[in-house]
Amino acid sequence: MLILSVETSCDETAVAVTRDGRTVLADEIYSQADMHALYGGVVPEIASRNHIAVIGRLADMALQNAGITKKDIDAVAVTYAPGLIGALLVGVNFAKGLALSLGVPLVPVHHIRGHIAANYIAYPELEPPFLALVVSGGNSLIADVRGYTDIRIVGASRDDAAGECFDKVARVLGLPYPGGKPLDDLSQGGDDTAFKLPRAKIDGCPYDMSFSGLKTAVVNIVHNAEQKGEVLDRPSLAASFAAAVSDTLVPRTMAAAGGLGYEKIAIAGGVAANSRIRADFVKAAAEKGRTLFIPPLRLCGDNGAMIGCQGYYEFCAGRRAGMELNAYATMDVDDPRLQMQ
Ligand code: ATP
Ligand code: MG
Ligand code: FE
Repeated sequence: MLILSVETSCDETAVAVTRDGRTVLADEIYSQADMHALYGGVVPEIASRNHIAVIGRLADMALQNAGITKKDIDAVAVTYAPGLIGALLVGVNFAKGLALSLGVPLVPVHHIRGHIAANYIAYPELEPPFLALVVSGGNSLIADVRGYTDIRIVGASRDDAAGECFDKVARVLGLPYPGGKPLDDLSQGGDDTAFKLPRAKIDGCPYDMSFSGLKTAVVNIVHNAEQKGEVLDRPSLAASFAAAVSDTLVPRTMAAAGGLGYEKIAIAGGVAANSRIRADFVKAAAEKGRTLFIPPLRLCGDNGAMIGCQGYYEFCAGRRAGMELNAYATMDVDDPRLQMQ
């Protein structure tokens, strides 16, 4: 089954063609990051306008690179939540038009479910159930993936997402937006023990996380150094910060896997590209005898293939949308609206 999938939840316009939820025939991504970098973050109105400008061409490119025509498409999948509402609506309306004109089913996909599904592309042998950690620009959560379309949150950040925290810390260190990758690069060779940074725990909720205290601690260190005119060891601060985030994510995820009895652990989302977090997970999984799944860097950030992949499993579960499909800025990955009617 061939699915054309559309992703416009934030500042990446993406269209992919995938087969049976596992094989990628084409995966076109147009990132607007440079445009938003001027403002230090994503400007929703600019994102929507740019999605409109490029989505048609991206879809044509995806079909061409997949070596197929529109007539070969069996279904259209689209990200409809969560994300920037105006940005999501561009993708949703484009997908509606395409599905209607071709007379094929329209399949709504939850963006975070898509991030998890990036692992099905990278690891053809991976099947639920397993434990997943999703760490992205807007979400940090540990999920019990019981089935392809049966996903329950077992822990989440009480405040900032890990990616948001990376971006904010990068910004105070004068790095460009989005700051996760530049901060990762800066941390290489730094001393990760040079700065004592907090690792918050939430009483009675061992799998929940908090990053706002860590963010504030780093911001204060930078501002104090500026006020005193001191030269800051930026690589060591970046390395200490990455270590603190990793120390928050890795033990919780391992504990949740142990608690739920899972041998398989999958990591997903843009922050899963972080070199320190990846290395710490590899080490912890080896120590605890768990099998670790982490997508290649290209599949960690937003892309269309992950939406096509999850879209296939949503389709198999009987999920369809009509022309009344709406987009939603917020929706949990285990929202009742996602359960099959
Ligand atoms: P969400 O998926 O929650 O809606 P999003 O789609 O904006 O948010 P992603 O595209 O999954 O998020 O990830 C983007 C985030 O990943 C940004 O915050 C970015 O800084 C971060 N990121 C990317 N590469 C790295 C890296 N190497 N280290 C740390 N963070 C990174
Ligand atoms: Mg982005
Ligand atoms: Fe995302």
